[in-house]
Amino acid sequence: MSPVIRPKPSIERMKEYVAGRNIEEVARSYGIDERDVIKLASNENCLGPSPLAVSAIKKAASSIHLYPSVDGVELREALAAHYDVPVGNIVTGPGMDGVMETLLRVFLDKGDEIVIPLPTFSYYENVAGFSSAVPVFSTRRPDYGLDIEDILSKVSERTKFIFITSPNNPTGNVTPVEDIERIASAVDCLVFVDEAYIDFADRTALGLVRKYDNVIVGRTMSKAWGLAGLRIGFAFVPEWVLGQYMKAATPHSISRVSIAAAIGALGDKEYYEKSVETVRKGRKYLAGNIPFRTLPSEANFILMDVSPLKSKYVADECMKRGIILRDCTSFRGMGDTFVRVTVGTPAQNKRLVEALKDIRGGA
Ligand SMILES: *Cc1c(COP(=O)(O)O)cnc(C)c1O
Repeated sequence: MSPVIRPKPSIERMKEYVAGRNIEEVARSYGIDERDVIKLASNENCLGPSPLAVSAIKKAASSIHLYPSVDGVELREALAAHYDVPVGNIVTGPGMDGVMETLLRVFLDKGDEIVIPLPTFSYYENVAGFSSAVPVFSTRRPDYGLDIEDILSKVSERTKFIFITSPNNPTGNVTPVEDIERIASAVDCLVFVDEAYIDFADRTALGLVRKYDNVIVGRTMSKAWGLAGLRIGFAFVPEWVLGQYMKAATPHSISRVSIAAAIGALGDKEYYEKSVETVRKGRKYLAGNIPFRTLPSEANFILMDVSPLKSKYVADECMKRGIILRDCTSFRGMGDTFVRVTVGTPAQNKRLVEALKDIRGGA
């Protein structure tokens, strides 16, 4: 690194985001045929993409020499119709990650704070660092529910956001809407409810966006909608946020191909329902058959506690057998015995259960 030009301290201190390992990499390092590797590490949709999304992409291909709309308005309109929410309450971006980056860019200044209940998705902390803001942590209760009193006690004059992930990643539990409402009504800062996995659960906090001017609900098309490779996220925001968001958003940040595919997928009710149904059934099968303690989940993944084994050992042994899982050691506050598995197709789930039984028996 240059001795003269340094990155700003918040970046220098930051740990790199750890993503799930990919199929090509694992196939290469273990000498396995790519076709025999299954990835149950990043909570993608095991059914593949919606055929309507794929045909929309083909149709959009001949116009890719033109810029997409500056603000994804066609997609915002399609989302407004689908969710029956005014278009003035919807923003879009390159993945929910991109939406969060824009929102935090709007609100966070150096030294501002965001409150994060742990354990959870680690990217919030990184995005706060981009603005030299400070993450303040609250610890969830032993059942991974929120400790509301503790969260409220950590809110200061400098707090701009509280992040609530529901269902939570990696634990899989939903936060009751009443808990979110208690927090939102008690604070002046914004409450960001990350509902990346809400399609697999049955309670959403969406209604609170209409009721409170400080609640934002983030969503993604990467999970239930099967479009992780295209990077499409959106959020339901109070109307006053929209104009500020548009000023800070990267122009044209969702590609033409992505917009077309997203609109195509939104029209594929059959695919969506099948995705949700496959997850609900697979989740039940895995919870009943995994030979370790599993946590109840309302998402498309299950967290298992592999103790007395270590998570790294179990994840490595699975990888040797061509199954990629997520060792949760990199999640702050999660310890070293938790492994997260994405619900797959029935055949993938069965192969996983057999591998885990084998690993458990051989350890
Ligand atoms: C997957 C995930 C996201 C990000 O989704 P993208 O839209 O793909 O950026 C956000 N939050 C949580 C909790 C996730 O697990």
